Amino acid sequence: MLHRLRRLGLSARIYEAGSGVGGTWFWNRYPGARCDVESVEYSYSFSDELQQEWTWSERYASQPEILKYLNHVADRFDLRRDIQLESRVISAAFNERTRRWDIRLADGSEASATYCIMAAGNQSTPHVPDLKGLKTFKGRCLHTADWPSEDVDLRGKRVGVVGTGSTAIQAIPLIAQSAAHLFAFQRTPAFSVPARNRPLTPGETQEAKQNYAQIRQSARTSSNGAHYLNVVPPGPSALGVAPDEREREYERRWNRGGALLVRAYADILTNGQANATAADFVRNKIREIVKDPERAEALCPQDYPIATKRVCIDTDYYETYNRENVTLVNVRKTPIEEITEDGIRTSAATYPLDCIVFATGFDAMTGALLAIDPRGKGGVSLSDKWRAGPRTYLGLMTAGFPNLFLVTGPGSPSVLSNVVTSIEQHVEWIADCIGHMRLHGFDCIEALEEAENVWVNHVNDVANMTLFPQAKSWYTGANIPGKPNVFMPYVGGVGAYRVKCDEVVAGGYTGFALSASPAEVEAVSSR
Ligand code: NAP
Repeated sequence: MLHRLRRLGLSARIYEAGSGVGGTWFWNRYPGARCDVESVEYSYSFSDELQQEWTWSERYASQPEILKYLNHVADRFDLRRDIQLESRVISAAFNERTRRWDIRLADGSEASATYCIMAAGNQSTPHVPDLKGLKTFKGRCLHTADWPSEDVDLRGKRVGVVGTGSTAIQAIPLIAQSAAHLFAFQRTPAFSVPARNRPLTPGETQEAKQNYAQIRQSARTSSNGAHYLNVVPPGPSALGVAPDEREREYERRWNRGGALLVRAYADILTNGQANATAADFVRNKIREIVKDPERAEALCPQDYPIATKRVCIDTDYYETYNRENVTLVNVRKTPIEEITEDGIRTSAATYPLDCIVFATGFDAMTGALLAIDPRGKGGVSLSDKWRAGPRTYLGLMTAGFPNLFLVTGPGSPSVLSNVVTSIEQHVEWIADCIGHMRLHGFDCIEALEEAENVWVNHVNDVANMTLFPQAKSWYTGANIPGKPNVFMPYVGGVGAYRVKCDEVVAGGYTGFALSASPAEVEAVSSR
């Protein structure tokens, strides 16, 4: 975004809470942290030189490698001089007199800008459950999304991991290798498929580099922003094929690794019976891998359709439950009652621990934005406006908050896609929009409430055509007590969404009001 804004001739500044660049990949340094999108595509496409000169070492990049890449990008495009680190934004308010955003930072300093672009992330506000006695624990307490940069030595320690989502599923196999004993506190089992991570061969790397133009184009027009997930197109229906043929297809995709399995048939996310065939396949795999039948059953998800919570992608997750130093604690059956000075007490037992790792996720999609407490016209706070759930037009803007852009905001494909593809599309759209405004003498853009209402209804309608709303997930805010229950991302697909955004532009920014202040009119006429 900074790179694009500079190319428009604007002065721009990034405020970043961390002491380094990298966002998710700066904070989430827990053991095993790795992207679940293939590295070749989890990368920027805006510069061919960049994509030609960078070489990924593995099929799925590890956190250190992605962080190195993002630092390389910051240096490669000379971005650091406009990035202010260790600068947490604590408020942003639209000043109707100056038509500028007044921004305050935690250190008391202030800034003012015509445009305020929120790129604070969808998974960047860690959630720690409000457990009784949490502060009394005398051992070490860590959250995976706030992991120290120095090595955390868990050798010989009794470690409790709370949560079994994507993060825990990556961390548990590695922590189990060094800890004396690992206790996994599981409330809801997750569906996980093997990553089959491996080094990329020079031939694969060369092929990707030669074909980047087609790969990127295919990703941009796909449903999920990733070319590789669409190389083998899904069959029309899991119910339209013989059971043995279906099993063979699932098996092929399971062996290939990654999220391909749940893309085997087009109706897995829309038809409960079709979905059950994929869910049964994974449950049977869990029963094959985990030797203790009771433990295997406890690891089998039963109360939501597969892929309605994000499918996890692992390396040796289920295998880890065959280790003698791993205990699975079912906290659905025997809930955590309190954290004590020396461990976790459930309704059935006490577990003495040296370290508790919270892999308990995030206040997703809205947490980081609402923490900044944006105030729009008339001093209206975004928290008030979104009391019943986020409302945006295209996930890009929200009515009543002029010149406030959201990168991958709620109501856009964002977290349901290869997010780099979605980020780039928003960055381009926002930069083009600002460029258009400057060219035509506007300095204020605002989403119209009618357009927003139509979009919000469409986002809900499309979500309700799928099985997604059947799961209590962070997509619906269900993981945060008191959060409104609304399916937040746009499930209509990256390609279709891009077409819609482009149509809005072609129509002269349909659904937006563009206006000019007297000062801008004067500035344009004297240019
Ligand atoms: P998450 O999916 O929200 O999982 C949080 C886990 O903590 C769940 O198992 C949840 O159980 C549990 N939990 C929360 N509060 C609890 C409590 N009070 N007691 C017991 N258990 C509790 O969070 P995450 O694993 O950090 O993943 C979030 C998202 O980040 C992923 O879906 C993915 O989009 C992204 N991510 C991606 C990668 C990757 O690229 N490979 C890796 C990690 C994360 P319930 O389900 O019962 O609430």
